[in-house]
Amino acid sequence: MNLSSLPASSAPSHPLAPYGWDEGWEAEFAPFAERGLLPGRVVRVDRGLCDVVTPAGVVRADTEFVVPRDPMKVVCTGDWAAVDPEGGDPRYVRTLLPRRTAFVRSTSSKRSEGQILAANVDHAVIAVSLAVELDLGRVERFLALAWESGAQPVVALTKADLVPDPVALSYLVRDVETTAPGVPVLTVSALHGDGLDVLVATVGGGTSVLLGQSGAGKSTLANALLGEDVMDVRAARDVDGKGRHTTTTRNLLALSGGGVLIDTPGLRGVGLFDAEAGVGQVFSEIQELAGGCRFHDCAHESEPGCAVLAAVDSGELPVRRLESYRKLMRENQWIVAKTDARVRAELRRDWKRKGAMGKAAMEAKRGGLR
Ligand code: GDP
Ligand code: ZN
Repeated sequence: MNLSSLPASSAPSHPLAPYGWDEGWEAEFAPFAERGLLPGRVVRVDRGLCDVVTPAGVVRADTEFVVPRDPMKVVCTGDWAAVDPEGGDPRYVRTLLPRRTAFVRSTSSKRSEGQILAANVDHAVIAVSLAVELDLGRVERFLALAWESGAQPVVALTKADLVPDPVALSYLVRDVETTAPGVPVLTVSALHGDGLDVLVATVGGGTSVLLGQSGAGKSTLANALLGEDVMDVRAARDVDGKGRHTTTTRNLLALSGGGVLIDTPGLRGVGLFDAEAGVGQVFSEIQELAGGCRFHDCAHESEPGCAVLAAVDSGELPVRRLESYRKLMRENQWIVAKTDARVRAELRRDWKRKGAMGKAAMEAKRGGLR
């Protein structure tokens, strides 16, 4: 949902409206408002503490009471939270509102689970540089990731000033459009400011993230959208009330023209994580064709009566698309298989440890950690 689709009445007048507060969040938050809690959006998380922007300004809050065992559910930038209306520094996050969307990545470390990178993102803007040859496979990978998160993908072909010929530019746009069914494809030049208004209008008043390869022009685009240097946007805070100030960087910023941009470490270089539905959505025309295959579990390899292979033969479906689809599906299956194996191994270790320590000792230890 974006703000522009809401009645102009209550939401935009709310002090959190610039941060994405809308009637949906207001309704979700109602029971906590009754308890006197303060609504807020998480703009930064670090080691068990977070900065939350509230109607009373940015407050520091401890996440101790909302720390689950599932790392996918830990507080992250973009979450909507209920925090103590007053109290010391830090205050406490009392609850998180259910997420509308979430960006997750597989961790490369020993931990087997996904890691949550950003929550409640409405649009994933995939920056694709026109300064280098288009890599449609890479675009498809980012699209899968975006769809899987629940956010609406938007492709921004950046550095359009480097393709001055409008005909050449329109061909490039069309190439990407056929690769991205259901996705707006725009051209922008952060250098000249071209297309930024269309991009802003496309993402509405909602929350966006910028994805894309290094060098694609994300930072430059972010700065253009923010109208200032992101890295210079800092929030000073009085940590202990003794006049000692620290400087922190927010990972969630309100755009001057409306809308919110989230930029967290790790989000930019994120990889696929259990994104089968997302991959399917990128290749929606293949999934549609597959409905006409003779066998419902057709792998579109060499089966008789395969509608997908027939479409490749007739030229309707580019073979590159089918190969890219297979590649991303295989990659995704590999990630899922790897994850499951790790989860199983970890659980086994857990059981052994519990057996050795004894259940009571284990419980006591866990209690002590709280
Ligand atoms: P990031 O790694 O995705 O954040 O990419 P950057 O924003 O750092 O941009 C990479 C390079 O592309 C830099 O040298 C920028 O100056 C250049 N660049 C970014 N946007 C534009 C643009 O609109 N036009 C041109 N010509 N160059 C751009
Ligand atoms: Zn088939």
